[in-house]
Amino acid sequence: MLRRLWQLIRGSEPTAPLNMQTGSPFYPPHPANVPGPFYVEGGCCLACGVPEDIAPDLFGWVEGDMHCYVKRQPETPKELDRMREAMCSSEVDCIRARSCSPEFLLDLARAGHAHLVDTPS
Ligand code: SF4
Repeated sequence: MLRRLWQLIRGSEPTAPLNMQTGSPFYPPHPANVPGPFYVEGGCCLACGVPEDIAPDLFGWVEGDMHCYVKRQPETPKELDRMREAMCSSEVDCIRARSCSPEFLLDLARAGHAHLVDTPS
């Protein structure tokens, strides 16, 4: 269901480099992210400060690399709300979801940020 919804919302594939194994667009995650559905794309940081302001309990900061990362995955509806707010507020679209619920995707789409969800497999 998520893939069909994603295709309806997106219409066409994004232009990221393709993962040679899956054939889907690939956004390389920063290595400091904890495992889970949400991640920060590596190598794109402008030190926007958005995650610190919105969800300091979910995001950490790598001093040596000057880069934020997901230090804890959201577990509650309020934490998911703040994750979505951080995704929609980041200046360079670098907070992404590998997967999410259809409801979360629809909320992102309403805010004009459905492109932050990776292509569902
Ligand atoms: S959201 Fe993006 S630009 Fe902002 S601090 Fe994190 S990696 Fe840097």
